[in-house]
Amino acid sequence: MKIKNSPACLICGAKESEIFFEKKYPELPGSFKFTMYRCPQCGLYYNYPQMTQNELSALYNNGYYFFHRRDQVEFRRIVALYQRSVALVENQIQPRKVLEIGSAKGYLLSVLQRLGWDVQGIEISHSAAKFSRQKLNVPTYAGTLDEFITQHPNEKYPLILAIDLLEHVIEPASFFKQVNQVIERNGIIIIDTPNGNSANITQYGSEWQGFNPFHLFIFSLESLSQLLNQYGFEIQKVFSHGNLSPTATQLMTPQQNIIRKRFKALLYETQLITLAKHLRRQLYEFQDTPNRHQYLRESILKIRTGQDYFNSSDSQGHLAKGHQGDNLVIIAQKMK
Ligand SMILES: [Zn+2]
Repeated sequence: MKIKNSPACLICGAKESEIFFEKKYPELPGSFKFTMYRCPQCGLYYNYPQMTQNELSALYNNGYYFFHRRDQVEFRRIVALYQRSVALVENQIQPRKVLEIGSAKGYLLSVLQRLGWDVQGIEISHSAAKFSRQKLNVPTYAGTLDEFITQHPNEKYPLILAIDLLEHVIEPASFFKQVNQVIERNGIIIIDTPNGNSANITQYGSEWQGFNPFHLFIFSLESLSQLLNQYGFEIQKVFSHGNLSPTATQLMTPQQNIIRKRFKALLYETQLITLAKHLRRQLYEFQDTPNRHQYLRESILKIRTGQDYFNSSDSQGHLAKGHQGDNLVIIAQKMK
């Protein structure tokens, strides 16, 4: 369906985008309909009209799913994340100094710190930043990248990490302008974001796991390459991960999926979700758990003895060819 008067694509300027899906999420306020466009020219998916800053804040304060995961789950995730990100560039980086933008609760940086990196996080959620500082001893600035730059105008890093971040950023172009202020010349940025070229989008449409009301943009390799080139980056390496079978949710039968969605909607309607989230937060979100440091030590050990990502089963998965897995990784160097 072509829509006239649709907003011009933010990346390539194409005037006529298509509505890819339109839906209500129970997390969203009132009757807010989330509309996702797809640019036929560069493949960018973008939400329009966007929620206001206040609406977005309310959405995050209502409990961002990412912060509820358990230590054990997070540290397990970090080993794989390290192998397919920092491990690929660490020999190029000197000194070992890294800035992670959107460092969440600090798990990745806590591991890098143990591996001898000088680490700095920036995290917009004050409670996550506090957790990162107090529970994992990771220096973490609570605020936006823009605010960090204002307060540390001369800080530059040879390595920048933007993991699961870009899809949340309201203005991707401004984001790269700001990155250019904190990255050293010839520095490296690693971006890991849901993949707009994922083969599973064709199969699952708006039910694809990369679509949710927190994800304002889903980049294709082409749209992200254009943006990076525009800001003086040269792409060094591209691959997808999540190249194997879809996630558990997507393995549900359509009927099971309907039941799951009805249950979720009911939780929201009856406000039971507030109670459920509260309980989960009490259990996992920012609490001390007895085994945290043990999990951290185990992660380091696994990293030191671990395999190369490119020998893993995920890397050999059937979607790897043509970079059609669920997530896209781009490693790019700042040239000018
Ligand atoms: Zn476009």
